[in-house]
This record gives sequence, C-alpha cells and structure tokens, in this order.
Amino acid sequence: MKVLNLRCAHGHGFEGWFASNEAFDTQLAAGLVECPVCADTAIVKLLSAPRLNLGNAKAPAEAAAAAPSQVLAELSPEARWMRAVREVIAKTEDVGDRCADEARKMHYGEAEERGIRGQATREQTEALLDEGIAVMPLPMPAALKETLQ
Ligand SMILES: [Zn+2]
Repeated sequence: MKVLNLRCAHGHGFEGWFASNEAFDTQLAAGLVECPVCADTAIVKLLSAPRLNLGNAKAPAEAAAAAPSQVLAELSPEARWMRAVREVIAKTEDVGDRCADEARKMHYGEAEERGIRGQATREQTEALLDEGIAVMPLPMPAALKETLQ
C-alpha cells in the first residue's frame, strides 16, 4: 500500500491510497484519480518530504503567535513588580535625597508639580504624610537598584 500526497491543478492537497506507484500511474493515465474537492483529474504527485517540512514550518509560527500571552502568564510576581518599578522610574525625575524637600516644595507650590522619586528616611516620609503630602514608598528590587546606581 502506498499513501501518496497528491495535489490537483487548483491547489487542493489530498492523500491517495494505491497498491503501488505503478497503480497510481496507471489510474492517473486513465483519468481515474480525481480531486475529492473539485473532481479535477490533473493530479500531480508530491514528495512526502515537502509536506512534512510544511508541517514542521507551521509549528514554530503557531508557537510564536501564542508566545506573547504565554510569556505574560509566566511572569513571576518579581518580574511584574520589576516592570511596574521600571514604569515609575521612566515617568519620574530622580531627585535623590532631596526627595522630601522637593515633594514639600511641590505641595506648597514652590516647585513645578511633577513625578519625582528619590530616597527619604522614614521620619521624612512620616512628616510628609503628616503634612498631607502624597508619597508612595517604592521598594526597589535589588537587581534594579544595582543597574540604577
Ligand atoms: Zn481540486
């Protein structure tokens, strides 16, 4: 039994089962092999290798299409946090240890309002909160700290 990969002139691919290659040739010559889709009898025999390659080539493309959501789902809590911190860093100005002073100036209209970040002691932070100044502690992932300083 030979299982042949066949294709009609309209590009329909299908499998044909024959006793042998010779049986296929004979039936083809007699016009007995026809496309199951469009009944075309202009059938060509394909090597099985291209079909296999096609199947293999398709798999990585499908995997790539599915990759973004998979990667997202696989992000660890640390990676998510890292990304959030990076976003804050990208949108804020680093004022270093002047953070408490700058936050206070902005609150009292002495400095332009903007997103700032920097280091503040616990006392400075509590003082800011007491004055009604919005601050948000931003624990830095150790890996990010190293690349920033
Ligand atoms: Zn066809």
